[in-house]
Amino acid sequence: MNRDYKQSEVGTPDYSDLLLDQYISAIEVVNPMHRMWSDGRWNKLTMAHGCYWGKCTFCDISLDYIKLYEPVAAQMLCDRMEEMIQQTGQHGFHFVDEAAPPALMRALALEIIRRKLTVTWWTNIRFEKNFTRDLCQLLKASGCIAVSGGLEVASDRLLELIQKGVTVAQVAKVTRNFTEAGIMVHAYLMYGFPTQTAQETIDSLEMVRQMFEAGILQSGFWHQFALTAHSPVGMNPAQFKINIEPGCSGTFANNDILFTDPVGVDHDAFSFGLKKSLLNYMHGIGFDFPLQDWFEVKVPRTKIPKEYIVNALNEDEIHSVKPSAKVVWLGNKPDLEISTKTKRGETWESALLTFYTIKDTLSIKVEVPQGKWVMEILDKIRVDASETLTFQQVKDDYEAAGLEDFELFWYNKPFNKLANFGLLTL
Ligand code: SF4
Repeated sequence: MNRDYKQSEVGTPDYSDLLLDQYISAIEVVNPMHRMWSDGRWNKLTMAHGCYWGKCTFCDISLDYIKLYEPVAAQMLCDRMEEMIQQTGQHGFHFVDEAAPPALMRALALEIIRRKLTVTWWTNIRFEKNFTRDLCQLLKASGCIAVSGGLEVASDRLLELIQKGVTVAQVAKVTRNFTEAGIMVHAYLMYGFPTQTAQETIDSLEMVRQMFEAGILQSGFWHQFALTAHSPVGMNPAQFKINIEPGCSGTFANNDILFTDPVGVDHDAFSFGLKKSLLNYMHGIGFDFPLQDWFEVKVPRTKIPKEYIVNALNEDEIHSVKPSAKVVWLGNKPDLEISTKTKRGETWESALLTFYTIKDTLSIKVEVPQGKWVMEILDKIRVDASETLTFQQVKDDYEAAGLEDFELFWYNKPFNKLANFGLLTL
């Protein structure tokens, strides 16, 4: 019997015989993410087979296509990308992963930048906290233009039951990081999960409303929960307090198994209102409509505080950079200007570092030895340098130069702004 091929053995997809220039570009709908699926041409690849998370209780996690996680090395992915560009002349890539792993996305982005590939790409992710501000900036610099991910039911109780491994507040911070980096975010939204109440559906809509109003989501789509045989809910219905209808046994690909939920909410009654409100929010309108107005049936008032998402976004982030975090510089070489001042017979030197992007300039005053060290370290951590330094190595380098109080220097306010100029801790 033949064994399954490993991802490293499957080779590069061959599109060379397709008459790509004769296909029309279909614009199916106005939803920005759905439009990307059909408009234009994308070379299709996967970063990894299966899902690195593999826990969500509505998902077919017992089947190989999710369960067998096998990533492809970033170098091999880039080799395949280069080959496909040669074949098709197209520089756009859609990574059709179940959920692309952040560490591999980081490695892929660094490899794309090192090889100076001009590409655009997008993929499916899980909104986990590893998508920091700096990682999102790196992804953008490598050509990432959009991500889609499951916010599912925007309720912490149900996210816990789904085993999504995120909270609504955390998703909001991550979608903000993507949005600020200029990467479009699409959220898969769910309603009708076992035990979900009408109150939770309306509260979930309120969370989504606030996220669109805050500008941290650009696209979304509501899906009604479907019970599948190979998901944890399908395999352990009693644990989720539902009853499977007699005769609905779980054979392969037997999706949409009928079930009853003793909570007894008529989820269909919410479908139209959820979709209509979302369509409006995606156009940036209707934020001040009472939620009741979107529905033809009477719905509960939301219990979510009006400022829930804004407050979550304003919470202070605790900096906890791992010593093994990689530090890279993607920016241009800054200017170092050393000036001498004399006052009341005393003379001293000060340094001014000036950083540039196409749109912006930032000047930071530092002590002269620190200014000289910054010029040297930025050269050592260039993204195309032969070795990538860790945070600990950068700190050691600072101290070896006879300088003191590294953390105080690295985390001071102006220095912290350098992420926008290309100084990333990943
Ligand atoms: S829903 Fe997505 S993140 Fe969750 S286990 Fe399935 S593929 Fe992975």
